[in-house]
Amino acid sequence: MTARLIDGKAVAASVRAEVAARVAGLGFRPGLVVVLVGDDPASAVYVRSKDRAAEVAGLAVRTLRLPAATTERALLAEIAHLNADPAVDGILVQLPLPGTIRTDAVLDAIDPARDVDGFHPVNVGLLAAGRPALVPCTPSGVMRLLAAADISPRGRRAVVLGRSGIVGRPMAALLLAADATVTIAHSRTHDLAAECRRAEILVAAVGRPELVRAGWVAPGATVIDVGINRLPDGRLVGDVAFAECAAVAGAITPVPGGVGPMTIACLLENTVTAALRRRGVAP
Ligand code: NAD
Repeated sequence: MTARLIDGKAVAASVRAEVAARVAGLGFRPGLVVVLVGDDPASAVYVRSKDRAAEVAGLAVRTLRLPAATTERALLAEIAHLNADPAVDGILVQLPLPGTIRTDAVLDAIDPARDVDGFHPVNVGLLAAGRPALVPCTPSGVMRLLAAADISPRGRRAVVLGRSGIVGRPMAALLLAADATVTIAHSRTHDLAAECRRAEILVAAVGRPELVRAGWVAPGATVIDVGINRLPDGRLVGDVAFAECAAVAGAITPVPGGVGPMTIACLLENTVTAALRRRGVAP
């Protein structure tokens, strides 16, 4: 391996410590409510980690657990209730929702000022317009990783592989806001390898195990792997073939231990930001 390893665990720990120190100095505990509908085991694990991290950071966190049979109408009523609760600064609805509930209808119902996942169309629009918004946690975590590794996107060619609303699109918007020259490549792109090879910063967020091969990476490029894929043998791998790409790249994130830990750290940060903005003390 020749690439420098970007250690997401270490960066996430320092962001979490920063959040905890800020919360300790606030004189109040920002409130976060995580809404979990149904009993998807992976979602239950994510929610427990969010809960624990928020607790440690000093946030007032609680999980609202609703049965799988919850109707869309009942969920919307719960969200309206949370939107009206002055003690609630952040609302996060854990996805995926049961198939009987329209995800967009639920995300659209969250008060944009409390939308700590940054998925509400108002926050999506603000981010696209380059204005202050609550920004989705995973791409925000990628920007924090780049900053911690002292890699500036300014003037660089960045390629984002994947165009989901959760990762790819907001990732591209953040890189653009940081003055990169941004390309979004996706499943309909003609020559993915050639597009990726142009990248000085390559962010892979496709959910395809080890799709990105060494020949897709320009020598010295920064490779950020957002993918989390469970192989049939139980191993966890990213969207990047790590060992071979690390031999070509200048810097690279591992899976696990790269982008993954940043998501929760940025959720904590978003909750503090939402709490301060709601009180008129942050831009
Ligand atoms: P998604 O399925 O919503 O979107 C995947 C995107 O990749 C789509 O835009 C699609 O066009 C593109 N794509 C799919 N197959 C492709 C191919 N063969 N070639 C080129 N493009 C292709 O997924 P997502 O929610 O954006 O997540 C992507 C990956 O990131 C997943 O592995 C997911 O588990 C992971 N993820 C990690 C975190 C985290 O680290 N905390 C958070 C969110 C998602």
